[in-house]
Amino acid sequence: MPNQKTALGIIGLGIIGSRIANNYRDAGLTVWLWNRSPKPLPGFLGSPQEVARQATRIFIYLADGPACLDVMDRLAPALTPGHIIINHSTISPAEAQESARRVESTGAHYLDAPFTGSRDAAAAKQLVYYIGGEDAVFKQVESILQINAKSLLRLGKIGEASLMKVATNMVSASTVSALAEAVAVVRAAGGDPAHFAIALEHNASRSTTTDLKLPNLLQQDFAPRFSLKHMLKDMRLAHDLAASHQLSLPTTDAFIAKAGHLVAEGRGDDDFSVLGKLE
Ligand code: NAP
Repeated sequence: MPNQKTALGIIGLGIIGSRIANNYRDAGLTVWLWNRSPKPLPGFLGSPQEVARQATRIFIYLADGPACLDVMDRLAPALTPGHIIINHSTISPAEAQESARRVESTGAHYLDAPFTGSRDAAAAKQLVYYIGGEDAVFKQVESILQINAKSLLRLGKIGEASLMKVATNMVSASTVSALAEAVAVVRAAGGDPAHFAIALEHNASRSTTTDLKLPNLLQQDFAPRFSLKHMLKDMRLAHDLAASHQLSLPTTDAFIAKAGHLVAEGRGDDDFSVLGKLE
């Protein structure tokens, strides 16, 4: 267990960061918070810099790369060699490396630490973290990370964990696209969706993702666990990475087209299973 006197900072109190902050507080740790839109919470401070003045371990759950780079710049004046910034946001490898550069230029340390697991896994302290960065830095925050983790996977240097996160989300996006299309075909052809659920349960393609998302599709429940706008962001990161290596990604590009259309219709804050919304 971490020292109970360790003060932590959490930046970004959206779907995931708000639950992580609760978990750390429940574990008895002192938690200082900042979010772009102010929240009436104990420990809420006025800026990222103020968080860095109170806490040397700062965990970041922001929407995207531009938000992260902006926050790194706002943290920088208060950072010291005793600080470790642990960035859990899903961003591109290049954005992770640039975030690290801005942090490390102050003498502070950085970990590239995206995660898998959704709203309910965060609340249940069952996230799986992909961790890139130096072992010596990781060891200093390992016991704190374990509070919210099912597993901590060491995946190379800064940027590589972000690369693996984007790549695994490609599989999640195409799995849910295929699931939505399969349910649509079953319904259109007069099959019973409950029978599809039974068939898939005993099929080799069943996965944690299909277990999580099929009930949402069948009940048309799109309350956000992982939002469509963030999955679209991640597939755009995948597209850009591929394009920079002269690769084309037809499956990912089809997702981008459909998700972009739904976001334009105002569905970006719905869960990404809204891909299977009935007309
Ligand atoms: P979210 O609910 O949309 O929260 C995003 C957070 O980023 C909010 O605190 C928001 O502040 C803040 N933000 C957005 N733009 C900002 C800016 N320009 N400057 C400062 N703050 C900004 O997202 P989430 O679901 O918690 O996800 C957080 C990260 O984890 C994302 O990168 C996401 O892709 C990744 N992730 C999420 C899940 C999941 O299941 N939800 C799973 C794996 C990975 P406001 O409150 O002011 O808008």
